[in-house]
Amino acid sequence: STPFIYFVTPTHFRAAQKADLTRLSYTLSHVPNLHWIVVEDSDSLTSSVAEILKRSRLPYTHLNARTPSAQKMKYTDPNWTLPRGVEQRNAALLWIQNQLSGVGSGVVYFGDDDNTYDLKIFEEMRKVDNAGVWPVGIVGGMFVETPVLADNGSIISFNSIWKPDRPFPIDMAAFAVNVTLILSHPNALFSFDVPRGYQESTFLENLGIDRFNMEPLAEKCTKVYVWHTRTEKSKLSKGMVEKLTKKTGFN
Ligand code: UDP
Ligand code: MN
Repeated sequence: STPFIYFVTPTHFRAAQKADLTRLSYTLSHVPNLHWIVVEDSDSLTSSVAEILKRSRLPYTHLNARTPSAQKMKYTDPNWTLPRGVEQRNAALLWIQNQLSGVGSGVVYFGDDDNTYDLKIFEEMRKVDNAGVWPVGIVGGMFVETPVLADNGSIISFNSIWKPDRPFPIDMAAFAVNVTLILSHPNALFSFDVPRGYQESTFLENLGIDRFNMEPLAEKCTKVYVWHTRTEKSKLSKGMVEKLTKKTGFN
């Protein structure tokens, strides 16, 4: 039978949230055996996200986990000042540990709400026995950030130019791991306490993965099936920013 994909999406309120989630829901609705875990960065579930989930007709789980105020970026902060999605991805990992123990099959992927996904990436991630890896487009200052393979298909290096000395110099969108690995490593979580760019590395190291033994997918890492596109921050009038601040409780 086709292994289930648990597609974990942290999401936070901003002007383009519904637009990004609507587009993502239309992508995911083409994928069989996919369970969408959406974790809102908020104090409670919102009806606008609930409606998108319902209309997607996908199997889903709707959670919320608010980023602590001290870790929360202000609207005007550049995007890189603080880690994003930490609390939300951890909430999803705890849900997986609680709900899927004993299920024992399936694949977990962290799919942000503003990336672009070729449907082919889902068939690639279903092949993952332990931890799979593939190229990502438009990330880390490159057209394509990717593992580099030897002729025999094994990973020999990574082409990354941004912080290339990271244990795993790859983006969140570049990998998926088997559910069994998550279940056997309950302490493998994301953290606010790691240097910028080290979320992926910390998590994958805690899972006991060897970067050179990951399963290279997407036709031996020659194809790009996911792009780290970013939705431009909406240019809002002062009044609109005030409204948004009111709604989120942050400034
Ligand atoms: N996100 C969140 N809370 C925040 C900022 C971001 O839950 O305060 C979510 C966001 O909706 C996205 C993911 O975390 O799904 C990554 O954020 P973003 O796309 O802004 O990061 P980048 O693409 O710059 O790495
Ligand atoms: Mn993004």
